[in-house]
Amino acid sequence: MPPAESPLRIELALGDITKERVDAIVNAANSGLRGGGGVDGAIHRAGGPEIMEECRRIGHCDPGDAVITGAGRLPARFVIHAVGPVWEGGRDDEELLLASCHERALELAREHGCRTVAFPAISTGAYGYPPELAARVALRATIEALERLPMIEKVRFVFVDENLLEIYGRALAHLKESAERSV
Ligand code: ADP
Repeated sequence: MPPAESPLRIELALGDITKERVDAIVNAANSGLRGGGGVDGAIHRAGGPEIMEECRRIGHCDPGDAVITGAGRLPARFVIHAVGPVWEGGRDDEELLLASCHERALELAREHGCRTVAFPAISTGAYGYPPELAARVALRATIEALERLPMIEKVRFVFVDENLLEIYGRALAHLKESAERSV
């Protein structure tokens, strides 16, 4: 299936984020930057030990924030480790934290001269964020950040799961409709 093109500079695609040929891929990291399962494990396995060495030196990242390292053996130049919230039923500022880790990731990308960035569906795996809600928050935060960061040309959201691709696709279509209505 061809990637879903968007005038918002956002693309959605199926695939393994570790294979993305972009300037920076974003990792769904934990606060201790210790690696783990899911996309985090896949990135450290494919990228090799250099990424973890840098993560150890950095040591910590708060939920809602992000840090940047090299990308080891990956085709990308950088890995941006963004820490999303654990879903607690929506009572614990999850929406704010999910939005802010996308913003921080894109700001770091800009600071490092990146024009293309790929995100996974942060918090929708082990952290349990309902994907319909995560999709809206992640995409809206990305659209808003891109308005402030014109040097970032393309953001790809990359999913291993077809169901997630559909959910994010529907959310993106809704956001585009409401953006068009407000023009
Ligand atoms: P979190 O702890 O933030 O929920 P997970 O890694 O458990 O992070 O899951 C985040 C999302 O990443 C999940 O939707 C999962 O399907 C997806 N994922 C897992 N491996 C990959 C990969 N190699 N490329 C892209 N997405 C992936």
